[in-house]
Amino acid sequence: MSEENLRLFFALPCPPEQAAAICAWRDDQAIDGRAVPRDNLHLTLAFLGAQPKDHLDALLQMAATVQTDSFSLTLDRLTTIGKGFICLQPSNTNPALLQLVEALSERLAALGVILDCRPFLPHLTLSRQARSRPQQPAPDFSWHVDRFVLYRSRNTEDGVHYDELGSWPLAAP
Ligand code: ATP
Ligand code: MG
Repeated sequence: MSEENLRLFFALPCPPEQAAAICAWRDDQAIDGRAVPRDNLHLTLAFLGAQPKDHLDALLQMAATVQTDSFSLTLDRLTTIGKGFICLQPSNTNPALLQLVEALSERLAALGVILDCRPFLPHLTLSRQARSRPQQPAPDFSWHVDRFVLYRSRNTEDGVHYDELGSWPLAAP
């Protein structure tokens, strides 16, 4: 059995057009901290942490059994989470987003993957290690979520990279 572990998480990728709009707005706001690169913008659904490489096939097969609806995601609040994570969050969480998270959590539990016990908090991180909390309102950033992705997170000399290992469609309701 391979000893190698992969650092994995399921997420919604931010589509390129919305990522460009979000970064253009963010970079005008003088938001403190270390800006998240445009290509890395995402909303985490489930963080698996280190998983044996040998489990990857089972995870890919499991994800293919998720059949929840596509939905519209609107990020409209600029917030600070924890110690200096500046984020965009939805004021209203679409039930289809919660169903997707629930479907993944249930299936991961069945595979023996224990998730963080903290409740799901939908957010897209814009900046880290910020010392000041922004107070301004955010515009609405919306897109139609029609897929979810399994990423491998890799730390490199250039910073963290997320490799897309699989992508699954969400069907129109
Ligand atoms: P780095 O930690 O190298 O600065 P990163 O936080 O972007 O970069 P990861 O730590 O691999 O990369 O995290 C990937 C995603 O999973 C991020 O959205 C991160 O916020 C989330 N995440 C990381 N650890 C946890 C955790 N314990 N519980 C929930 N989500 C987590
Ligand atoms: Mg991290």
